[in-house]
Amino acid sequence: MTFKHYIDGQWQLADSQNSFVTINPATEQPIKEVAAGNHVDIDNAVNAARNAFEHGPWPRLSGKERGAYLRKIAALINERLSELAKLEVEDNGKPYPEAEWDIEDTAGCFEFYAELAEKMDEQEEQVIELPEPRFSSKAIKEPVGVAGAIIPWNFPMLMAAWKVAPALAAGCTMVLKPSEVTPLTAIALAEIAEQAELPAGVLNIVTGTGPEAGQPLAEHPDVDKMAFTGSVPTGSRIMSMAANQVKNISLELGGKSPLIIFSDTDIEQAVEWIMFGIFWNQGQVCSATSRVLVEESLYPQLMERLVEEAKKITIGEGNQEGILLGPLVNEAQYQKVLAAIDKGQQEGATLVCGGGRPEHLQTGYYIEPTVFADVSEDSWIWNEEIFGPVVCVKSFKTEEQAVALANNSRFGLAGAVMSKDLQRCDRVARALRAGIIWTNCSQPTFVEAPWGGYKQSGIGRELGTWGLNNYLETKQITAYDPEQPWGWYIK
Ligand code: NAD
Repeated sequence: MTFKHYIDGQWQLADSQNSFVTINPATEQPIKEVAAGNHVDIDNAVNAARNAFEHGPWPRLSGKERGAYLRKIAALINERLSELAKLEVEDNGKPYPEAEWDIEDTAGCFEFYAELAEKMDEQEEQVIELPEPRFSSKAIKEPVGVAGAIIPWNFPMLMAAWKVAPALAAGCTMVLKPSEVTPLTAIALAEIAEQAELPAGVLNIVTGTGPEAGQPLAEHPDVDKMAFTGSVPTGSRIMSMAANQVKNISLELGGKSPLIIFSDTDIEQAVEWIMFGIFWNQGQVCSATSRVLVEESLYPQLMERLVEEAKKITIGEGNQEGILLGPLVNEAQYQKVLAAIDKGQQEGATLVCGGGRPEHLQTGYYIEPTVFADVSEDSWIWNEEIFGPVVCVKSFKTEEQAVALANNSRFGLAGAVMSKDLQRCDRVARALRAGIIWTNCSQPTFVEAPWGGYKQSGIGRELGTWGLNNYLETKQITAYDPEQPWGWYIK
């Protein structure tokens, strides 16, 4: 068996011929052996991207031409929708309807940035008014150069699209390193790029681990921009690596996002959005509403309904009909979440639901929907990201107290508020220190709207026009009237 990466428009033999195995988390069985890339593979990929940027057509094509390639990629993804969704279920564990939604959104992301690429043709020059008539000035946007992208395992193909689509729309060339936990749909994306006849070297995909393939990419002197999504510790490391070369970076990191529920909220709606906020994708969502704050008078009834509904969630292999909760992504994540549940109990929080493996599933990395009540503000489970189907609930007395509790976090990715009083929703939304706020819902994400965090949840914004700007430089061109003497030294 030989192992290859997608470099310079070809499937090139991997340098070391080392490999790793990706596991189906529902069966604990291997799915596929994949090339374990190293610094030589990354160097080849970055060189191909550099060559394509300096000498290839990509940055010099019109936005309309680049848009046409992105639309082709979107169409090819849509053609393979159910196959890709099934592959995502096998590799990641998520229920099929969620995977299908991810793949539709992946295609949608390419379509959205195709449209922005097309619009770039009209927007290229912005005239700047100057107070001095002998000067004229304009600002133009240019691609930042070679982009490196490192992504996590929770929405494998969608996270790739969030970086690849805007980078290519902007005219950058790039190297993508998917998570070693879920590399399969990224490999499919390389096949799609090849089928779409994307010019050689524009998109290079190298599989491998963080230390062996991710680090050489982040440290590579020929990468102009690093875009990273993942955990805070890795993001912090990427930032130090980028600092050595003063590299442009954007970071999308973790969270511990609050959901504040006032007593005038419809209880069924509240339970629905709590569950969507924490059990969707097995709670392995950076913006998961993992801290729920409920106004005191609603707390007892709400807890009762939440526990009733959480217990009804159907758990099992994601490709089976009617499944709402699949396994966690791998054994390491499974053990990490079980350890967090243990810690919560030791800290004295009340475990009101779940907390372990469902009895009927003895194989696979399954954890029941888990609810902790009466969680103290200084406890580990209230403050740290668990990244599993575990929600911590706490009551509050006043709006001020709720906002203060919600903001008391080193993270600031997302937050949510529910109340029939829409003015209060807006007031609380503005008071929360986070980059994404939902009112009367939690989690729905649109490619048009900016995505990213405050505080340790990251730097920069993805999606929308903000996502495109991540991959653009701004240049001013200022012209002086050659007929006019300057007269500083030479009078
Ligand atoms: P992770 O940080 O362990 O890994 C993310 C990626 O970084 C992987 O591709 C990995 O191979 C790579 N990596 C690891 N060590 C590296 C190193 N030394 N140098 C370079 N690359 C390295 O995170 P994860 O476990 O894959 O994902 C879970 C985390 O991602 C959670 O904290 C979650 O909140 C966060 N996340 C954030 C967002 C967001 O948009 N803010 C979205 C999804 C996930």
